Amino acid sequence: MRVNAYAALAPGADLTLYEYDAGEPGPLEVDVEVTHCGVCHTDLMVIDNDWGAGVPVVAGHEVAGIVRAVGTLVDTGRLAVGQRVVVGGVAGSCMSCQYCVTGRQQLCASRDSTAFRGDRGGFASSVRASDWRFAYPLPEAIELLHAGPLLCGGVTVYAPFIRHSIKPTDHVGIVGIGGLGHLAIQFARAWGCEVTAISSSPDKRNDALELGADHFITTRGTHELAMASGTLDFIISTVSADIPWDDYLAALKPQGTLITVGVPESAMQLSALSLVFSEKRIAGGLVASPGETMQMLDFAARTGVRPQVDVFPMPNINEAIGRVRSGDVRYRAVVAAQ
Ligand code: NAP
Ligand code: ZN
Repeated sequence: MRVNAYAALAPGADLTLYEYDAGEPGPLEVDVEVTHCGVCHTDLMVIDNDWGAGVPVVAGHEVAGIVRAVGTLVDTGRLAVGQRVVVGGVAGSCMSCQYCVTGRQQLCASRDSTAFRGDRGGFASSVRASDWRFAYPLPEAIELLHAGPLLCGGVTVYAPFIRHSIKPTDHVGIVGIGGLGHLAIQFARAWGCEVTAISSSPDKRNDALELGADHFITTRGTHELAMASGTLDFIISTVSADIPWDDYLAALKPQGTLITVGVPESAMQLSALSLVFSEKRIAGGLVASPGETMQMLDFAARTGVRPQVDVFPMPNINEAIGRVRSGDVRYRAVVAAQ
């Protein structure tokens, strides 16, 4: 199979056309024609070679599209050519290690991380999942246009609700209203929680409330975060920048948990006292297992959680990336095949 992709040929470079031959799919593999692909903040780090993906690199790991070819061992009763699917940040795993057999495939040491696999990402005419069980049939109610950002952005912020047993009676703070954050507000609302959106951008107040937040805190030049001290059971941070972690930990109730899915630029600076006296916790969160992903798709289909998208034709990929870099997207950039 010939694939027309958009690759960075040097770290941080504009993407240029890049063709490769993927050959025929192996026994468990699935080829998906890309109709849409979301642009995640992680794609910028991949293009910039921050995490060592190397060059040439084809980023893109929020793929929505149509199955065009399946390997000989694919169960075509469950995944057939012509089906609408979505492929996210994990596109395969060994399915036999202790993490895979206990439904935590995102932790498999040999997982196929779509985001970091070099020149085989989703900013392309086609993408290959190395295991068909990571190409998820799309519920009828979800359009292809909206599907990509639900994987990875959506499922990354959905998974903490399951893993940390967040209850409808909990008060959840969502920090950073971007691609992940605007979906996290919607999921928290649909889960039944009281929701506080915490943002460095005062102009996002109305959007946050419309997305389902009960309260809005702006951190820039105000004391609003300090005034919320001791009010939150959980904080999910989606921020990609350095923030004063002690101030956020102070907003948690005793034994509250701060989950960071965002990846700040520097090491996290915080005082142990922020954790010790009130027995607070910090956890990380990584995208998601097939079980969590399927559950999230069903939940989103039923509750109406959808990304708000800025759509760009695929050939305008560099414009989309530029907008994500400057934080000028409301709230997820999606590139669409022509
Ligand atoms: P995004 O759309 O750029 O949103 C990030 C948000 O962070 C911004 O909208 C902004 O929200 C806030 N922010 C940015 N710069 C800031 C600053 N200097 N100070 C305070 N707040 C700032 O990015 P995204 O695609 O949602 O990704 C968010 C993070 O999650 C990234 O670090 C990404 O790499 C990571 N990620 C992790 C996983 C995982 O598996 N753990 C999966 C996907 C993405 P406000 O304007 O509201 O402050
Ligand atoms: Zn991502």
